[in-house]
Amino acid sequence: MVRDFERDDGGLRVVFGTGTLARLRDELDRLGGRRALVLSTPRRGELVSRVVAGLGGAAAGVFDGAVMHTPVEVTEAALARAAEAGADSVVSVGGGTTTGLGKAVAYRLGVPHVVLPTTYAGSEVTPVLGETAGGRKTTTTDPAIRPDTVIYDVSLTTGLPWPVTVASAVNSMAHAVEALYAPGRTGATDRMATESIAALATGLRQLATGSGEARAELLYGAYLAGLCLGAVGMGLHHKLCHTLGGSFGLPHAPLHTVVLPYAMDYNAPAAREAMRAVAGALGVADAPAGLQRFTRSLGGPADLAGLGFGEADVDRAAGLATERPYPNPRPVTRDGVADLLRRALTGQSIGGPR
Ligand code: NAD
Repeated sequence: MVRDFERDDGGLRVVFGTGTLARLRDELDRLGGRRALVLSTPRRGELVSRVVAGLGGAAAGVFDGAVMHTPVEVTEAALARAAEAGADSVVSVGGGTTTGLGKAVAYRLGVPHVVLPTTYAGSEVTPVLGETAGGRKTTTTDPAIRPDTVIYDVSLTTGLPWPVTVASAVNSMAHAVEALYAPGRTGATDRMATESIAALATGLRQLATGSGEARAELLYGAYLAGLCLGAVGMGLHHKLCHTLGGSFGLPHAPLHTVVLPYAMDYNAPAAREAMRAVAGALGVADAPAGLQRFTRSLGGPADLAGLGFGEADVDRAAGLATERPYPNPRPVTRDGVADLLRRALTGQSIGGPR
C-alpha cells in the first residue's frame, strides 16, 4: 500500500514517504531556520551524516549526547552547544530519546523544531515532554512543545535492529491500546487507534517474513499511535511505565513491551469493548494473551526481571504509581498494581480466551 502523504494539521506539518529526507532543507527554510543544531543519541554517526548532508550548509553543529528520559543536565549541555553554535533551530534525528531532547531544547529557546523519527515512539507528534531530575520523571504538556514539522522517511528506519524494532512497535501499540479506553476518546481516535494497531501488527508480521512494505506500515502505525497519544489521556499502563522508567531506570520500549499485556489484562474486565477492538486489529482471540504470545513469538522481552527490576522494588514502585489518582477503566489500587508487577516480574503467562 502506498503510504506517501503530506499534511498540515493545526500547526503540525507532516511529510511521510521514502526518501523524504531530501525535503529537509526546504522544510527548515519554510520555518525560517538557517542554522540548525542537529541532535541524536550516541553512535548514530551515519544517520547524522545523512541529515547534515541533507541540510546542505544549514547545519550549525551536532550534539550527539541525547539520553533516555531527558535528564535536565543533558538538556543544559545541549543548550550550551546551541549557544556556542549560534543555532536558530533544532533538527532531531532518532527515536523518542532524541525527540525528547529536541523538544526540551527548542521549547526553552523558542526556536523551530524539525524531527526525523527513526523509531516508532510517536513523541514527534505530541505536545508532551517528559524530563528527569533528581531521580523523578515529570511531564509538561504545552502545544508549544509539539515539533513544527515531522519528516517521516521510511529509509531512515531500515537499519533499526530487530529487538529495538519489536519493542518500539509495541511501545507504539500501547498508545493506541490506551486510547481505546481513554475518557476523551472519540469515534475518530478509536478509528486511528485500531488502524494503528493493525498497521503495527501487519508491519511486524511482514518484517518477520520479509514480505510487503513492512517498514512503511510500522512507521505509519507509529504516526497514528502518536496522534492517539497526543489526543487523549493515557491510563494505568503509561503511568506505570512512567514510574518504572523514570524512577528505576528501566529501558522505555522493552518495559512497555513486557508491561502492556499485564496492564491490558488488569483493565480487561472493565474495558471489554476496547479489548475486542484490540483483538480484532491484532487478529487474535483474546487481546492480552494474544498480544503477549505475539510479542514473545517475535523474541520480545518477556519479564521485568530481565530488565533489571527486582522483587525488592515492587512495593516502592506500586506506591509511586498510585500516589495520585488518574482516569482508568478499572480502579487502580496499590495491591492491584503490586500484583501486576509481581506477575510481570517473572513473566507469568496470561491465560487463554475469557
Ligand atoms: P531511543 O530513542 O532511545 O532509541 C532506542 C535505541 O535505538 C537507541 O540506542 C538509539 O540510538 C537506537 N536507534 C534509534 N534509531 C535507530 C536506527 N534507525 N538505527 C539504529 N539504531 C537506532 O528509544 P525510543 O523507545 O524511541 O524512545 C524512548 C524515549 O522516548 C523515552 O525517554 C520516552 O519517555 C520518550 N517518549 C516520549 C513520548 C512523548 O510523547 N513525550 C512518547 C514516546 C516516547
